[in-house]
Amino acid sequence: MLTNDQLDRWDRENFFHPSTHLAQHARGESPNRIVRTASGVYIEDRDGNRLLDAFAGLYCVNVGYGRPEIAEAIADQARELAYYHAYVGHGTEASITLAKMVLDRAPKTMSKVYFGLGGSDANETNIKLIWYYNNILGRPEKKKIISRWRGYHGSGLMTGSLTGLAAFHNKFDLPLSQVIHTEAPYYYRRPDKAMSEAEFTRHCVAELEALIAREGADTIAAFIGEPVLGTGGIVPPPEGYWPAIQAVLDRHDILLVADEVVTGFGRLGTMMGSDHYGMRPDLITIAKGLTSAYAPLSGSIVGEKMWAVLERGTDENGPIGHGWTYSAHPIGAAAGVANLKLIDSLGLVENAGTVGAYLNARMQDALGGHPHVGEVRGEGMLCAVELVRDRDTTTFFDASEKTAPRVVAEMLKSGVIARAMPQGDIIGFAPPLCLTREEADIVVDKTVAAVKAVLG
Ligand code: PMP
Repeated sequence: MLTNDQLDRWDRENFFHPSTHLAQHARGESPNRIVRTASGVYIEDRDGNRLLDAFAGLYCVNVGYGRPEIAEAIADQARELAYYHAYVGHGTEASITLAKMVLDRAPKTMSKVYFGLGGSDANETNIKLIWYYNNILGRPEKKKIISRWRGYHGSGLMTGSLTGLAAFHNKFDLPLSQVIHTEAPYYYRRPDKAMSEAEFTRHCVAELEALIAREGADTIAAFIGEPVLGTGGIVPPPEGYWPAIQAVLDRHDILLVADEVVTGFGRLGTMMGSDHYGMRPDLITIAKGLTSAYAPLSGSIVGEKMWAVLERGTDENGPIGHGWTYSAHPIGAAAGVANLKLIDSLGLVENAGTVGAYLNARMQDALGGHPHVGEVRGEGMLCAVELVRDRDTTTFFDASEKTAPRVVAEMLKSGVIARAMPQGDIIGFAPPLCLTREEADIVVDKTVAAVKAVLG
C-alpha cells in the first residue's frame, strides 16, 4: 500500500483531475481527498474519516455503495467473458438482457437502446442520430439544436456546447455554431417577480417561439433538456412547462431529447423523469443510474419514429457509421442488469419518492425562513438550497466570497458531503436512493449547522 506521502506526491505529479483548479492542486492548496472504501451511503477516506455522501458521488451511486450483488455480477462477467464487441450484430447475454430491461422501463413509444460509456458520449450519439435522421428525410438544413441556459449535457465538443454553463465554454471555443440556447425554466430567477408559475411558463414558451421564429423552424432539428435542471442548480420546471414546450416542438416538427442521465431509474420517485412530467421524447439519454456507477455505461434510447428512419437509412446507405469499441461493454451491462434488479427488489424508486419528499420538507422547514436562504427546492431525491445576500431582491453573494463552497466545506467537517453547484450559491443534494429518514435527518441537521456557522 502507498504511504500518504507517496499518494500526495504521485497525485500532484501525475494525475490530471477533471473539473479541478489545476494550479492550486499542483501547489497543494486544494483538497485532495483520497477515498478508500464505501458502504451504504457512507464513503471512507484514507485517514479513516467516514462521510455521509449526500450527493451519491456525482448523483450516480443510486443503490448506494458496496452492494455485493453488483460486485459479484461484475466478477462473474469478467471471468466468463470480460469483453466482446457489439459491432455488426454481435452481443452478449448481459447486453441483450439489459436492453430488454431498459425498454421495459422506458415510455412505450421507445424502440431500441444504443449503449455507450457515459452521459456525454450518449448525447454525442443522440446528436449524430438526429442529423442522420434529417439527412435521410432529405432536409439537410434542419440541424440546429436548442438547449437551455443552465442545462448540463456533458463536456465533449458538441455536448459541452449544449451545456449552458459558462465554465464549460470559456477558452474552449464553445459553443459550436449548431447549438442555440434558450431561457432556463428557473422560476426563482424569473425576469419579473410578479409572474405566477403559469405566467413564467408562458414566458419560457414565448422565448422559445421567438428563437424558433428568428432561426427558422426548418433549420432546427431538436430541443434537448433535463426533466429537472441538474448541474445548473437542481431546478424543477415551473407548472405546466413540459407539456407547453412539447406542444411548440410538435408544431414545428422539432425532436425532443430528454436527458435523463440524472433522473433516469428512479431519482424523481418515478422510473423515468419523462413519465413524471408528461414529456414525449424521441430520444432519452441514460447513464449514471443505469449501473449506479459500478461500471461505466450509458445509453441512447431511440423512439419508434426515429428508429424507422434509421433503418431506412441503412437500407439506402449501408451499416450505420457509428460505434465505440466499448459500446455495450459486457461488464457494464452485467452491472446494469444487477443494478436494475436491485432497484426493483429494494423498492428504491418508491423510497426516492417518500424519503426524498421527507428530506425536502425537513430542509424547507429548517431553512426556508433563514434570512440568507432564497429558496429550498427539489423533487424526489433531489434537493437544493439557494443562498442569497438579500432575500427580497434575490441578489447573489459576490462570487469571490465563495459562500456555498464555504458552507459545503463546513458540512464536510461535520461528516456530510453536499455539492456547491457550479453557477451561483446553490448547495445541491442528491443522495443515494436508499437513503433512510434517519440519514435524511443527519443531512438536514448538518446543513442547518453549516449555514448558521457561515451565515449566522
Ligand atoms: N447529462 C446530464 C444531465 C448530466 O448530469 C451529465 C453528468 N453530470 C451528463 C449528461 C454527462 O455525463 P458524463 O459525465 O457521464 O459524460
